[in-house]
Amino acid sequence: MALYYPDDGALDALRERDPNHPVVRCKGFIFDVDGVLCRGEDPIPRAPEAIERLRRGGKRVVFLSNNSTKSRQDYLAKFQRLGIPVIEDDLVLATYATAQYVARERPRAKVYMVGAPGLRRELELAGLELVEDPFAAEYVVVGSAFDGTGRIREDNAHRITGALRALYHAGAKFIATNPDKIFPAKDGVIPGTGAVIGALSYMLDRGPDAIIGKPSTHIVEIALARLGLPAGECAFVGDMDTDMLAGKRMGMTTVFVRSGAMTEEKLRSLGIEPDYVFDSVIEMLKAEG
Ligand SMILES: [Mg+2]
Repeated sequence: MALYYPDDGALDALRERDPNHPVVRCKGFIFDVDGVLCRGEDPIPRAPEAIERLRRGGKRVVFLSNNSTKSRQDYLAKFQRLGIPVIEDDLVLATYATAQYVARERPRAKVYMVGAPGLRRELELAGLELVEDPFAAEYVVVGSAFDGTGRIREDNAHRITGALRALYHAGAKFIATNPDKIFPAKDGVIPGTGAVIGALSYMLDRGPDAIIGKPSTHIVEIALARLGLPAGECAFVGDMDTDMLAGKRMGMTTVFVRSGAMTEEKLRSLGIEPDYVFDSVIEMLKAEG
């Protein structure tokens, strides 16, 4: 019969096999969401059990996503469907992390935003002042201006022009939620935040002052602050090159899972060597059997 952390004897068996095994060495875990816990709406088998087991063993866990359109409140329902109990503080989305980044740099800053209601909500919760007048903006914050079908959001129709004016005339700082260029949708790819970054960067001959989402370390720093642990005591578990890069840049243990969008061969062909590779998150906890 298979033994999984934290079953009796599992930790000893893992330690004996490898004293540096992430479950032996690490007190905190940052989990990417899509490809690790779920594929779209479908949960990955035994992922909820793996999270429950880590928590039962006393590990701290947070969930990190580059999502630029949803608030943490929006994501609670997603996790409920997946069968993973969470509170908002367990979720580090690019929307939330971007709001935290700006609020730390300049509390109550005046922000002109491009993006979805979920981004607006997190900016407001962080105490930032959303402005509609581009000339009054101190920051331009951009997320994806498109809905899930690839149509530009109606309330964003004037916002590329607004953001251009805030950056060009008002000298606002330019912050992007994530660098994601395109996404697969049912009938073909759709633009991501990259479409907005690209348009503004080309017009202004300059890139953003900061991009918060993976593979940038900004979002990981915020996730580590949530865990309350040093990077060296934490593991980043993900299914993409960006996860491994973000984890490595912070000095974390990197764990690649084969349950997602990228093959291990593809990852290695990009010159990225994760510290550990497992078929799925539950396999990371398997001691024997
Ligand atoms: Mg992923």
